[in-house]
Amino acid sequence: MTRIAVDVAVPIPLHRSFSYSAPAEDAERLRPGVRVRVPFAGRRLVGFVLGPSDLDPSTLKDVEGILDAAPLLGARELELGRRIARRWVCGIGEALAAMIPAGVKKGAGGRAVVVVHAVRPAADEALADWPARASVKQRELLRALVEEPEGVPRQVLERSHRVSASPLETLRRKGLVRFDRERREEDLFGALEIRPTKAPPLNPDQARAAQAIGASIDEDRPGNFLLFGVTGSGKTEVYLDAIGRTLARGRGAVVMVPEISLTPQTVERFESRFGGVAVLHSHLTDADRARQWHELASGARRIAIGPRSAVFAPIPDLGLVILDEEHETSFKQQNAPRYHARDVALMRGELSGATVVLGSATPSLETWELARRGRLQLLRMPERIGGGDLPAVTRIDMRSQRPTGPGGLFSPLLSSMIRRNLDRGEQALLFLNRRGFRTSIRCRSCGYTKVCRDCDVAMTWYRSRDHLLCHHCGRSERTPDRCPECGHGDIHFSGIGTELVEHATRTLFPDARVARIDSETMRARGAHERLFAAVKAREIDILVGTQMIAKGLDFPGITLIGVVAADTSLCIPDFRAAERTFQLMTQVAGRAGRGEHAGRVFVQTYSPDHYALETAARHDYEAYAAIELDHRRGAAYPPFGALARVVAQGPDEGKTDETLAEIARALRADGPAAGVSVLGPAPAPIAYLKRLHRRHLVLRTESEDALVDFLAAHHDTFRNRRGVQILVDCDPVAML
Ligand code: ADP
Ligand code: ZN
Repeated sequence: MTRIAVDVAVPIPLHRSFSYSAPAEDAERLRPGVRVRVPFAGRRLVGFVLGPSDLDPSTLKDVEGILDAAPLLGARELELGRRIARRWVCGIGEALAAMIPAGVKKGAGGRAVVVVHAVRPAADEALADWPARASVKQRELLRALVEEPEGVPRQVLERSHRVSASPLETLRRKGLVRFDRERREEDLFGALEIRPTKAPPLNPDQARAAQAIGASIDEDRPGNFLLFGVTGSGKTEVYLDAIGRTLARGRGAVVMVPEISLTPQTVERFESRFGGVAVLHSHLTDADRARQWHELASGARRIAIGPRSAVFAPIPDLGLVILDEEHETSFKQQNAPRYHARDVALMRGELSGATVVLGSATPSLETWELARRGRLQLLRMPERIGGGDLPAVTRIDMRSQRPTGPGGLFSPLLSSMIRRNLDRGEQALLFLNRRGFRTSIRCRSCGYTKVCRDCDVAMTWYRSRDHLLCHHCGRSERTPDRCPECGHGDIHFSGIGTELVEHATRTLFPDARVARIDSETMRARGAHERLFAAVKAREIDILVGTQMIAKGLDFPGITLIGVVAADTSLCIPDFRAAERTFQLMTQVAGRAGRGEHAGRVFVQTYSPDHYALETAARHDYEAYAAIELDHRRGAAYPPFGALARVVAQGPDEGKTDETLAEIARALRADGPAAGVSVLGPAPAPIAYLKRLHRRHLVLRTESEDALVDFLAAHHDTFRNRRGVQILVDCDPVAML
């Protein structure tokens, strides 16, 4: 019997494929994009067929099973996988596997799902007293579960926490969680009633932008655009117009938004205009996701909305890719493949002949520079819809203020403005990008600082639940009443969080109705909708919150915004700190005065002259970008140079050091010739995280291509060894 050879991408971190043999009669079924089960280094792996192989079948191992009757990925997607693997230093098989939801791979169907519930109060008691040696993973899962009164489908939990079944099984054995079979079908639009809507007449700026994008769609000349429009300039209407034209040509569209703004209200705007929208967010069960995926693949739905992973939506004839709020860091994936949805969108656009639209009021400097170089066509929308003014922004110099109220949070000016707003019956929003009550705990006597035992990160004190919490691993502890180190009683709490802002607000303004929004209070299902309704019905006077409030939520009644401490984001040791601050200020200010009254914004800061705050106060992104680009050019930071980070992490400090030192030597040997400088090894900014020691190297080059080539040539240098895990992050968005 004659045999053939096929080339298979297996899900391992090597940038190459492997050949396997199969009987000639299977040739027809072994099409590119079909999954196969193959033996690999003593294991069974599922890989994707890439195509025929030239190798002699008699020297190869056999394909053991063919899993799909039809390919899950087409030729373009396979090519996209290759490019992703090369660009972000992962295996082709890993990149391809990430393109398909787990439910589709498993063939998930049916409706009954296993839902995991925390057993109360046993779970709370266990968390309060978690033994030092017990598993961090279990604690993390349990912590997530106690905050979900309705439980979490098991698959969703396993996926969002990247765990296998065993930590959950252990928790069940300990009686801390229980599994129930429930029928759950995700209702994509919550309780919203979807009524068809029509497009409003576009204003001149919108019409100009829609025209430019529309021409590229209508004439099949796919283009790449940056839609640079202030908050409230009506960017979504421009997206909708482009989608309409795309559908009219019989093609489909992908819309990506940050997960945090993927609310039913957002989805409704698209569904009510066109219908046929599939929503691909991370809280769907496998079965629901699989259903949406198949409906897109079959053409039954032609619009996909979702967070970054929607960039892989299986739309057969993709004509348009939209990335709203393109500057958001959540578009970068933090585990392998560490892709950025913006770059993948441009790659996919090129492969599919699709038009790509990136939208933002505060484009990332990378995107802005692409537009300056003409790689993206720049479309400006500098005016708000209805011509409303952007709110006046006043910086309050805290160095010359005597703050009032608990924690000394408010300058006299800000508190008098809040008072006046309340007296007029208008709504206010107070913003601080830190959760908890106090963010640092120190002994006055010996100077001991409370850090997480598992993370080397300061723990935050939550007064409402009276415990300390590590924001990195979820470890919680009872609040100490004396110093754990010297036994002295004088423990000092400092640093401010939103709980303290809420407390200070209630104390200073006892007549105000105050609500707090952050990832904690918004976790329960329907929390967004309830809050939104309460604000709209004017049952809330003052909203206190983190960046959750800066995004996506549109509250027309809000006329006053207070930024409690602008310096919290400016002081982060990251070359993007100023950029983040400018983005946050702009986004927060964009919440004000959306109704008939003009809004005002007050920004409390110790560095009022910082260029990011000064330009944000003038709503002048372009002035900000010019200064920032000069800084970046001077320091050879992106977009003028490329960066990558190599992190080694392991339980043994010595082995971690040794392994990274070895890698550094190997990279340094070839670095100069390739124009790559290698900085480090040094302890990572968070040098101990979830009980792993962490060291890193930073690689810099003048050009991204040189960096990608260099990393690809060293792919094998980055293999895990001695129990030390090696992570490579090309264009990291965070250096922690
Ligand atoms: P952005 O995404 O730029 O912040 P949106 O698309 O959300 O802005 O638009 C802001 C508001 O203006 C929305 O309530 C939207 O319905 C409304 N809007 C947008 N375009 C128009 C238009 N041409 N005519 C009337 N209202 C519009
Ligand atoms: Zn921790």
